[in-house]
Amino acid sequence: MSSLWPAGRRRVLVVGIDGVRLDLLPELATPHLDAVAAAGFLAPVVVDEATPTMSGPCWATVVTGVTVAKHGVLGNHFGGHRLDVFPDFTTRLAATHRRRTFAVGGWEPLFLARQGGPLFAAPGRLSYIAPLEDTPQAWEVCDERVTAEAVTVLSGDDDPQATFVYLGAVDETAHFLGCGEEYRASILAADARLGRLLAALRERPNHAEEEWTVIVVTDHGHLDQGGHGGRSELERTAWVAASGPGLLPGAPVAEVRHVDVAAHVYAALEIVPDPHWTLDGRPFTPAPVAAPVPAGQPAPVPVG
Ligand SMILES: [Zn+2]
Repeated sequence: MSSLWPAGRRRVLVVGIDGVRLDLLPELATPHLDAVAAAGFLAPVVVDEATPTMSGPCWATVVTGVTVAKHGVLGNHFGGHRLDVFPDFTTRLAATHRRRTFAVGGWEPLFLARQGGPLFAAPGRLSYIAPLEDTPQAWEVCDERVTAEAVTVLSGDDDPQATFVYLGAVDETAHFLGCGEEYRASILAADARLGRLLAALRERPNHAEEEWTVIVVTDHGHLDQGGHGGRSELERTAWVAASGPGLLPGAPVAEVRHVDVAAHVYAALEIVPDPHWTLDGRPFTPAPVAAPVPAGQPAPVPVG
């Protein structure tokens, strides 16, 4: 590895879009999410039985790579958490691996010492951009500024190796207005923001030499009238889309869980997790191929 690349060529962008229903994606034109999925995969995620279908616990699982039994975030008040033992990947990479990391968004407990937070304790760089009101419109403005801030940082000298961008307007819209036209429009707006983030990566001066992993993830679904927290299929169905080194375009992947996101971030940066981290996740892996076995021949040995 050349000294020009002290931290390697690998980079990771994780975009968390709150409360996007998987079942509505096929009917919506989301070209940028589709591009990530086409370059890798889009897979359903089932929020496990022990995890309330709420943003606090689900995002904590996504960015720590451990389940609620370890990180202890059980609701949208983060009090009693064990994030000091099970930190988010932006904090762990900055503290343990001297990597430049960045987290940005507008939901207080993820970024501020409010409501028992922050989830992102100590990334190398952190931006909190407050929505000026608790309304869908104010959250769209917030997400717009979050995206602009992320584009600035991803385009600048900071060169973060791992970034988390949080977009909250879709979830806010569902809570206020249900999962109708406004909700669908908000998903389209989030996809356009994802497009600006992806363009910022492509326009980096050394993009040709870099190896980017992009992960787009939602935390939970929503009931038709808006709302979540229960165990219905609509609420407990989330999803992950990802592309990057090791992920073949369009190839099916083995079951994907929220705990796998942080594990994949480490793998994408070629970092082997310390067993003491006791991660519950594993990197995204190709689905095992169930090849038909011709009569009279030994079964093929699965690869990988
Ligand atoms: Zn919500």
